[in-house]
Amino acid sequence: MVATDPRRNIPRTDRLLADPEVIAAGEHLNQATIKAIIAEVQTAARTGEIPVAEVAPTIISKLGSRAASSLTPVLNATGILVHTNLGRAPLSPAAAQAVTEAAGYVDVEMDLVSGRRSKRGTRAKAALLQACPAAEDALVVNNGAAALLLAVTALRNRGTGAGSGAKRDTAPNPVHSPSTARSDASPGEIIISRGELIEIGAGFRLTDLMTTTGARLREVGTTNRTHLADYADAIGEDTSCLLKVHTSNFRVEGFTSSVEVAELRTLADEHELPLIVDLGSGLFTPDPALPDEPDIDTALRAGADLVIVSGDKLLGGPQAGLILGRTEAVQRVAKHPLARALRTDKLTLAALEATITHTSNPIHDALHIDLDRLRERTATLAEAVGAAIVAHDGRVGGGGAPGVPLPGWAVELPEGCAPALRTGDPAIVTRVHQGRCLVDLRCVPETDDDRLAAAVTAVLGRLGDGA
Ligand SMILES: *Cc1c(COP(=O)(O)O)cnc(C)c1O
Repeated sequence: MVATDPRRNIPRTDRLLADPEVIAAGEHLNQATIKAIIAEVQTAARTGEIPVAEVAPTIISKLGSRAASSLTPVLNATGILVHTNLGRAPLSPAAAQAVTEAAGYVDVEMDLVSGRRSKRGTRAKAALLQACPAAEDALVVNNGAAALLLAVTALRNRGTGAGSGAKRDTAPNPVHSPSTARSDASPGEIIISRGELIEIGAGFRLTDLMTTTGARLREVGTTNRTHLADYADAIGEDTSCLLKVHTSNFRVEGFTSSVEVAELRTLADEHELPLIVDLGSGLFTPDPALPDEPDIDTALRAGADLVIVSGDKLLGGPQAGLILGRTEAVQRVAKHPLARALRTDKLTLAALEATITHTSNPIHDALHIDLDRLRERTATLAEAVGAAIVAHDGRVGGGGAPGVPLPGWAVELPEGCAPALRTGDPAIVTRVHQGRCLVDLRCVPETDDDRLAAAVTAVLGRLGDGA
């Protein structure tokens, strides 16, 4: 480095912190945040990314424009409805408003008429039961994984679950209650089909989750075929429950067979065992747009003691785990000590209630999109940016309906557009497939079409200039 290297003149932190313009721009931020931004810009100058003269102005502009959180809003142009990397379900305007209203002090655990303490989540629960009359009771927890963990933990004491005429056990005490003493020593076996052992993403396996409870998994059948007799043969002294899991993110095709919930109910009754059904995706009732996707109502009517779903998949709400089912089973789960550790917050309860009580939300709307309108919008975009329109299938995504195409269209751009669109403003995430960058408008709010077109035009212009 030569002596005249301008990088030696990068302003020092104490000088920048004392600069009146920096102080003014950062008055809404704390010292740690301001220092981090200063350090980041100094580094950019040191590595030659920005000229030294730009250090102070860059810091001032960054401080002034710093968003409340560094999560960047994204236009989802992938055609994938429930995109885990993009935060799954976007909230509806009603749900977003409910979150804002619940942000302050709210009567989440108080009856304002009597001034007494009330139960948490009463109204979200009432909304759930209205939406799903087959459920006698419901509980909301943090997410689907928490719901499953809690359900298999709380229902594992044999003979005390929701099965036919089983006795209720509200305060397990090994000293006074010999029936629970055995279960405490041995958490028992969860019986599950080999065709339903799933990894839900990022290396997390439901099987590992369940064995953290100390329970053992008793896998039955084969990957492609499981019969009622496989379950029946596996039931023994140590069986704690029967579990059926929806294979939400893959499909086994060809020579296959699995056992219906109703058949499992009969078997569970014969042995007084609880039957838990983890559906994952979260439809309340069958949806004609996804004919093979299981729903809560059908599973409960077929005899599940508990049905588990996520709030932010096809339900289109906030991250949550919903447990619906028979009163006795839900109450056992609700009273388990673990329920307190997995309970949901007021913001989630507010968003969930708003989602359930309104007909429209972004996931529902994208699934049932008017195809003529989608085609028109796509054609308008193609024309505006001077690109071709191609047939393109959207997908539900990790949230359900594996392998089911949602036919539609996309605008086809050169692959090189994808990174520029992702890092632009607005940030646009497209589908990169077979050397092309595909822009699918299914999950893009129509009100953002113009912004999106302008961003694509700008990127194509820059790429055309060889920039
Ligand atoms: C998604 C899913 C889960 C996990 O739910 P989260 O809300 O992501 O915790 C559990 N079981 C099934 C079948 C799922 O599809």
